[in-house]
Amino acid sequence: EYVVRAKDLTKEFVMGNEVTRALKGISIDIKRGEYISIIGPSGSGKSTFFNMIGGLDRPNSGSVFINDVDMAQLDATELAFLRCHTIGYIFQTFNLIPVMTALENVTLPTVFAGMPSEDGVKRGMELLDTVGLGHRYHHKPGQLSGGQQQRVAIARALANNPSIILADEPTGNLDQNTGTEIIALLRRLNQEHNVTIITATHDPKMIRVSDRAVIIRDGLIDKIQDRSDIESEF
Ligand code: ADP
Ligand code: ADP
Repeated sequence: EYVVRAKDLTKEFVMGNEVTRALKGISIDIKRGEYISIIGPSGSGKSTFFNMIGGLDRPNSGSVFINDVDMAQLDATELAFLRCHTIGYIFQTFNLIPVMTALENVTLPTVFAGMPSEDGVKRGMELLDTVGLGHRYHHKPGQLSGGQQQRVAIARALANNPSIILADEPTGNLDQNTGTEIIALLRRLNQEHNVTIITATHDPKMIRVSDRAVIIRDGLIDKIQDRSDIESEF
């Protein structure tokens, strides 16, 4: 059962008369419950690849299937629905809404999904408990440490029970110990809820817990390492 099937993805950016070929033909199938690290030098195409599988941008050619749905066949409304229900997003800079409390931030995706507010609030509190922040539900992001903000962001990503979490450098703005805690949390959620984690990362600790590491170079997959390769290299 594949949650992501990307086939021959290409993406070009045209700026004036300069063309950048960001993706030159990327194919990968990702199974439900896998924990995948996408690694590679800056400018190699990781974010572009992320944007394709997250439905944030469309490829020039090739296809992305999410849970057997071809994203190219969806109109804007259907794509928004798929993104809201199937994919949770986590960012390096947390991207919480500063004027909202932790609970309001976590509950927001359930509002977009049309969940009755009582159910959304109940779900939000459960998720804050899951990430160990139930006692901080009324705090705003500015009143929370970086690690706590990332926990809130993880709870928010889980709000609509997605099958995939896309995490772009989730430990990039955290100190070593806090980063280790966030990795342990993601790993626990991955194992307990069978949620697929796809992360772009430079963090060796993150790579070490992954099932596979996908190394992207110059718009192409250079190699894919499995657990035994990862254990010997990271
Ligand atoms: P990475 O995430 O690995 O650092 P990116 O996917 O951000 O790499 O970028 C891949 C290439 O595409 C780079 O050469 C980058 O400059 C270019 N690129 C990315 N996004 C855009 C854009 N919106 N417009 C023009 N060029 C872009
Ligand atoms: P950490 O040790 O995780 O970096 P801090 O030292 O920043 O956390 O904060 C310690 C505790 O105090 C945290 O649990 C945080 O939620 C709380 N806290 C920090 N700043 C504020 C604030 N301005 N208002 C309310 N609580 C705060």
